[in-house]
Amino acid sequence: MIKAITGTNDILSEDSFRWRELEKLVNGIMSFYNYKEIRTPIFEETSLFSRGIGDATDIVSKEMYSFIDRSGVSLTLKPEMTASVARAFIEHSLDKKQSLNKLYYISPMFRQERPQAGRFRQFHQFGAEVLGSQSPLLDAEMIIIAYDIFAKLGLTNLKVKINSLGVTESREIYKAKLKEYLNPHFNNLSEESRKRFDINILRIFDSKDDRDQSIMKDAPLLIEYLDDASLQHFNTVKKVLENSNVPFEVDPKLVRGLDYYCHTTFEIVSGSVGSQSALCGGGRYDGLIEQLGGKPVPGVGFAAGIERLLLACKNENVFEIKEEPLDVYMILLDSELRNDTFKAMLELRRNGLRVDSDYLMRSIKAQMREANKYNSRFTLFIGGDEYKSGDYLLKDMSEGNQFLFKTSDMQGLIKKIRE
Ligand code: AMP
Repeated sequence: MIKAITGTNDILSEDSFRWRELEKLVNGIMSFYNYKEIRTPIFEETSLFSRGIGDATDIVSKEMYSFIDRSGVSLTLKPEMTASVARAFIEHSLDKKQSLNKLYYISPMFRQERPQAGRFRQFHQFGAEVLGSQSPLLDAEMIIIAYDIFAKLGLTNLKVKINSLGVTESREIYKAKLKEYLNPHFNNLSEESRKRFDINILRIFDSKDDRDQSIMKDAPLLIEYLDDASLQHFNTVKKVLENSNVPFEVDPKLVRGLDYYCHTTFEIVSGSVGSQSALCGGGRYDGLIEQLGGKPVPGVGFAAGIERLLLACKNENVFEIKEEPLDVYMILLDSELRNDTFKAMLELRRNGLRVDSDYLMRSIKAQMREANKYNSRFTLFIGGDEYKSGDYLLKDMSEGNQFLFKTSDMQGLIKKIRE
C-alpha cells in the first residue's frame, strides 16, 4: 500500500471547507488593508534560498528539499515565501509600478523537519510582505493584521511578543559584548550553541538546552544597545499597537540571526497547541532586496502557519463553522424518469442552487436518508401522481410543508427555494 509521505497531510472533505473558510477570511481581511495577492512557483533555484534566508539558518543548512533536475540545476521546494516574493519583486521591477508594494500570499511550504504535532514537512502559510517603506506603522500593521485574523477566528489564548533588533551597526557592537560575556562560558555551552557562537551568535537565545538557558539568563540584551533612531522606531510601533488595542509584551530575548533583519521582530504564540506554539512570526528586513541583487528597498512581513491555527481553533472550540447544507435533494420515484430528473436538477444548479440526486438507483428510503445526510433544506419528488398531472412536489425538510409547482414553472420553484 502506498501511503502519503511522512509529515504531509491529506485535507479530506470534512476539513477542506474549514480551510476554504479560513482562506476566505484571509482574502477578506487582506483586501480591507489593500494588500494584493502574489503567487510564486513551488520551486526556485536553490541559491535564492541560500542567499535569501542564509546558510547559517536551520532551514538552509538542514531542512530544504533540494534536488538536481535533468539539466543539472539545483532546485528547492520553497521553505518560506519572503525570498520568493523578493525575487519576484526584483525580477518584475515592481517598485517601478508602485512605490509601495503591499503583497500577501497563501501557499504550501516544504521543510524536511522531524514531524510531530504541529510540525510538518508540507505545511501551509499565509502572510504578507510590504516592500518600499521604512515606516514603523507598517511594522505595527503586520502584527495588527495577523492579530485581527486570529481574533476573527475566535482565538483568545494568544500572546504577542515583540522585540527590536535595531540596525546593523548597534547590533555589531552588541554582538561583540555578547561574545565577551559568553567567552568564559564557552566550554559549558551545548554543541549546537558552540557552533552558533561564530556563525549566528544571537540564535543561542533560541536554545532549549537547560545549561544554555541558565548561561543566557544573565546575558546582556540587544535592546540595551539600541541607537536613538531605533529606539524611536520601536517606541512608535509600541504606541501604535497600544492605540490599536493589540495586547503585547516586549521579549528582549526574541531574536533573528540574519544580518538583513532589523528593527521590529515579533511572534504570536498560542497557549492552546502544545510545544509547537508559534502561530506566526515576522519582522523587518531592510537589507534583503539588496542582498538578492536589487536596489536597497526596505521590507517588512509576517508568516502564519495554517495547520497550527486550525489546531488552535479546534482546541479552543472556536471557528466551528458548519458546511453549507444542500438546497435540494431530488427524490426519484420512478427509475424511468432518470433523464427528466437530471434535466431538472441541472436547471436548478445552473440557477445557482446546490442540488444533488441519487446516481446509484437506490430505493426511495435510501434516497431520503441521503437527503438527511446532506442536511438538504428541501426534497423535490419526481414521479407518482403529481408528476403525471404535470407537477413537482417540493417538501420543506424542517417543517414538513409541501408545495406543488407546475413543471413548466421552474422560476416559481426556484423563487420558493431561495426564500
Ligand atoms: P517561520 O517561517 O519559520 O517564521 O514560521 C512561521 C510560521 O509557520 C510558524 O509560526 C508556524 O506557525 C508555521 N510553521 C513553520 N514551520 C512549520 C512546520 N514545519 N509545520 C507546520 N507549521 C510550521
